[in-house]
Amino acid sequence: MLSPNGFLPKMKGGFSNKHAILSLIRFTPEGMSRADLARQLGLSRAAITSIINGLIELGVVRESAVGPVTGGRRSKLLGIEPKGGYVVGVDIGATHLGLLLTDLSAQVLDESESKFDVSLGAEICLSKVDELLHQLLSRANLDLEDICAVGVGVPGPVVEQAGGVIAPPIMPGWDHFPIRDHLAALWNCPVALNNDAELGALGEWAYGAGRGEDHLLYIKVGYGVGAGLLIDGQVYRGATGSAGEIGHITVDDRGPICTCGNIGCLEALAGGRAIAERAKQAIRDANQRTQLSLTNSVDGLTAVDVAAAAEKGDLVAQAIITEAGEYLGIAIANLINIVNPGMVIVGGGVARMGDLFLEPIRSSVRKRSLEAAVENLRITAAMLGRRSTGMGAVVQALSIALQNLTESSSELIKESL
Ligand SMILES: [Zn+2]
Repeated sequence: MLSPNGFLPKMKGGFSNKHAILSLIRFTPEGMSRADLARQLGLSRAAITSIINGLIELGVVRESAVGPVTGGRRSKLLGIEPKGGYVVGVDIGATHLGLLLTDLSAQVLDESESKFDVSLGAEICLSKVDELLHQLLSRANLDLEDICAVGVGVPGPVVEQAGGVIAPPIMPGWDHFPIRDHLAALWNCPVALNNDAELGALGEWAYGAGRGEDHLLYIKVGYGVGAGLLIDGQVYRGATGSAGEIGHITVDDRGPICTCGNIGCLEALAGGRAIAERAKQAIRDANQRTQLSLTNSVDGLTAVDVAAAAEKGDLVAQAIITEAGEYLGIAIANLINIVNPGMVIVGGGVARMGDLFLEPIRSSVRKRSLEAAVENLRITAAMLGRRSTGMGAVVQALSIALQNLTESSSELIKESL
């Protein structure tokens, strides 16, 4: 039986051949030949041809460009039919809102990015999401009926059955609000709801730095800090959906108070909000010379401003970023010792500055992790940048869209039961 969110990154037992073929095609953007599919899935060419013909007839798969010459002739390559439909990926952050409109092959057609305040509560925030979704669709001359599904990411622990978040530390006014059902009713369209860091892991796995890596950690350093865990090709959510909340690991038991009420959490020392607070303190401290004090609005200072100053060589800003990186390294090292990933991808606003932020993380991790776990480990910046979470939301939306489009085949329904 398929999971409610449809196609997961890696096929486990119980998926039909048709779903296995579709998953391979959609996550191989360079295209796959029938021979590749037969080889990878251990199926006969006849079985592949029969299923592919069905998917082409449904308008979900197309035969497109020709591949390399094999055995004297060029093989045709298969891809998802882009015109089969559209989906939207929504990244609800603490302080930003991003929307991506893609076709069925996950090509981004348009996007919107705006400032946002998640602490205004569910109803105000979701009406803003609705407004921006309509703007995006009208720019593309599309209507809601053209949208097959919407994927949504939120910066809190998502309980899948409820389609909402429970006691999210940085989302006051959202506790137990039925986010998924509210949006599905508003748009009359299926909606998938997931945690933002989880979607970041999925987005980077599908289209970014993590392609082909079945054991990866995605660390999102935004206003808060969270982790998405992809273990053995599956997103790991835990018993109640709150796996990966590394922002609330204690890294200094004499540290500052966190939004969750505990003391010295990683997020309170290395999250975007914490980085901005450190910088404001430094500006107030007359002994420290920093270009940050030239900022027009000290109250409005963000971690991205600190990152920009650090890149320009400001020593105070660099020290703040280095310290945040070291704290992150402590938490990541602990996670590495437990999960043993092949890759750690650091994303979110601050991570866009690259090595200046990654180096202190890498050295802190090397100091604290078991050699066996870090020997071949890569710690890298997110390739999709600010789109990681949005593209993960697109992955989830496309899973629903492809599932619904192929369900019109009765044979498939039988197979997937
Ligand atoms: Zn906390």
